[in-house]
Amino acid sequence: MAKKTSVEIIAMQCSECKRKNYTTKKNRKNTQAKLELSKYCPFDRKHTLHKETKVK
Ligand SMILES: [Zn+2]
Repeated sequence: MAKKTSVEIIAMQCSECKRKNYTTKKNRKNTQAKLELSKYCPFDRKHTLHKETKVK
């Protein structure tokens, strides 16, 4: 059974091609702002801005 915590799994979506390239975890209590990270997108073959989105 899943533990009840504030940590949730989120996906990082490329702002250019809209693909979800990465998943990460985030603690809702500590981090309320939406995550935005510069990450490498293998589809664009460069670093792009990746924004937090839901996993599914
Ligand atoms: Zn991309």
